Amino acid sequence: MFKQQLDEFAAKHLTRRLTPLQSGVGPVVEMAGRQILLFASNDYLGLAMHPEVIRASVEATQRFGAGAGAARLVSGSLPSHQELESALAQFKGTEAALTFSSGYLANIGAIPALIGRNGLILADRLCHASLLDGCRLSAADFRIYRHNDTEQLQSLLAARRQARRTLIVTDGLFSMDGDLAPLPELSRLAQTYGADLYVDDAHGTGVMGAHGRGTAEHFGLEASIPFQMGTLSKAFGSSGAYLAGSSAVIQYLMNTSRSFIFTTAPAPGSAAAATAALRIVQREPERRARLWANRAQLFRGLTKLGFTLPPSVSPIIPILIGNADRALSFAEHLFAEGIYAPAIRPPTVPDATSRIRVTVTSEHSPSQIDQALASFQRAGQASKLI
Ligand SMILES: *Cc1c(COP(=O)(O)O)cnc(C)c1O
Repeated sequence: MFKQQLDEFAAKHLTRRLTPLQSGVGPVVEMAGRQILLFASNDYLGLAMHPEVIRASVEATQRFGAGAGAARLVSGSLPSHQELESALAQFKGTEAALTFSSGYLANIGAIPALIGRNGLILADRLCHASLLDGCRLSAADFRIYRHNDTEQLQSLLAARRQARRTLIVTDGLFSMDGDLAPLPELSRLAQTYGADLYVDDAHGTGVMGAHGRGTAEHFGLEASIPFQMGTLSKAFGSSGAYLAGSSAVIQYLMNTSRSFIFTTAPAPGSAAAATAALRIVQREPERRARLWANRAQLFRGLTKLGFTLPPSVSPIIPILIGNADRALSFAEHLFAEGIYAPAIRPPTVPDATSRIRVTVTSEHSPSQIDQALASFQRAGQASKLI
């Protein structure tokens, strides 16, 4: 049956394969023995390979070990985790923060803990898989609203049983489309209808807002979103995630969130790396300035070439293709040109919306972006997309 299922994936051009990578992530990587320009990582500020971040990771590893040994409630809570949580709470302007071993674990652990039986979850259709899985794991009823459709959300809120506990769940910056959630409107609806708002800011953290504090900062809503989740695995160049909120919320999650209680704490090296990355995010706003300048150059160039670009406003720039096989073939043409940008296909994105997901970082140089644009043009023409 596995073989048959795999054959079905293959027939629909939906087979997934790993592409071996022989170097750390950066603008240029070694793939399949070749030097390739990478437009695929979420290491938006180039911190995964930053010497200060690596040094912090090595020092914490030497001092506290390669692994944390157990869950923090079991074997004790290391300084690496405590320091990271204080730094995150300060950064996010909340009373407290709790770290998880990954963003996936944060979402599947926090959401079922925050809302359960008799509750109602309303989530955006394009929410990240980990949010949707968290919603499904909760004992609450779970409804999806159309992407960023605040009118539909309002009618779902208005139609629900009175005084029913409700959680609105959304990405801050959508991972496959690069657009923003209408947080001011979501926050207003949450207030009007007595609901709570849970924002996953995996891609906004470090990227959005004047100080990189995320989409909440971008919209001036830092004080009004009770549950702010973010990852340490994207712009922070490490791994792990956090939920920032009030002390009561954090204490409660520590007592009830299964993916916090029943999993080994993040490796001390990862936690220390994230703390070091956070320092750089705050100290070097020029990284964000370079990121946005690069993003503008790439978006302008791709627009001029005539690709179909959904309304992205971020370093995530999807080129919409439609068919999975055409998206794959375009990705292959790009790879032949020395560019790696992955074809994203269902079920990661809705049917018939296969795309090439292009991401740019602060570390790409303007000439690398020009070189990539020339390759996008040739590959786009060869694939008859432009
Ligand atoms: C990447 C991502 C996650 C998962 O984070 P990991 O740390 O990679 O597990 C969660 N939510 C969104 C929106 C993401 O893009």
